[in-house]
Amino acid sequence: TGAAITAKSIDGLVNPHFPLCMSHLHNTLKRTHHLKHFGRLQYTLFLKGIGLSPDEAITFWRSSFSTTTDDKFTKEYRYNIRHAYGLEGNRRNYKPLSCQQILTDRHPGPGETHGCPYRHFSVDNLVAALSRGGIVDKNVLGGVREDVEKKKFHLACNRVFEHVHARELKREKDEGKAVNETIVHPNVYFARSWELRN
Ligand code: SF4
Repeated sequence: TGAAITAKSIDGLVNPHFPLCMSHLHNTLKRTHHLKHFGRLQYTLFLKGIGLSPDEAITFWRSSFSTTTDDKFTKEYRYNIRHAYGLEGNRRNYKPLSCQQILTDRHPGPGETHGCPYRHFSVDNLVAALSRGGIVDKNVLGGVREDVEKKKFHLACNRVFEHVHARELKREKDEGKAVNETIVHPNVYFARSWELRN
């Protein structure tokens, strides 16, 4: 990204750079001070992908799990975070999850926050979540409803991306530099957003 991502800088990146799957994880974590296993995994790998170092990741998760004791954090969570960075156990370097994996691998159960909101939320909850994030344009929300009904989840996500970045995308087009590719990875969503705004 060209900038050092720290535990403290994450809050300021969510809007406009995170796709809804990740802003949903982030906001739930901030509100409840907790995420279940697959939510932690999905979000840890995404943050790793945007350049958060292992030490900063521990700092971020420790401060986010503010109602958890140090003892419990060390025993139950620290290892998993380090494991996702390939620093424990089999030392595999896990890649951030793609949309395809997030959309199809594990359907979130009650109380779970992982997954893709475009697929896993009811359409009304999806529209409410987008509105809370500042997307209130009726055409965009109507388009999202249609995409989702046709099970075109990526298209809905890309529609939102294009709306949020409309000005920058127009500038790119005017300069003859338009990149016409559908985003199919949350980390590409982030990288494209970052590149357009910086
Ligand atoms: Fe995240 Fe991909 Fe779903 Fe967009 S389509 S919310 S990037 S999983």
